[in-house]
Amino acid sequence: MDNCKTCDEFYYNESAKSWLYKVENGHWDYYKDGFDYIEIEVKYCFKCGRKLGEHRIKW
Ligand SMILES: [Zn+2]
Repeated sequence: MDNCKTCDEFYYNESAKSWLYKVENGHWDYYKDGFDYIEIEVKYCFKCGRKLGEHRIKW
């Protein structure tokens, strides 16, 4: 039990070799027909403080 709910929302970007967190910015994107979002690079979970490492890739 080392993953909090927020940890599950991070995903690993293989090419950038970094963990990213998607945050909707509240603007509707008509091209994607969905909310636009920004990606924030994270090294630690800001909720539980767990360090994100490459061995944590989700399958
Ligand atoms: Zn966490």
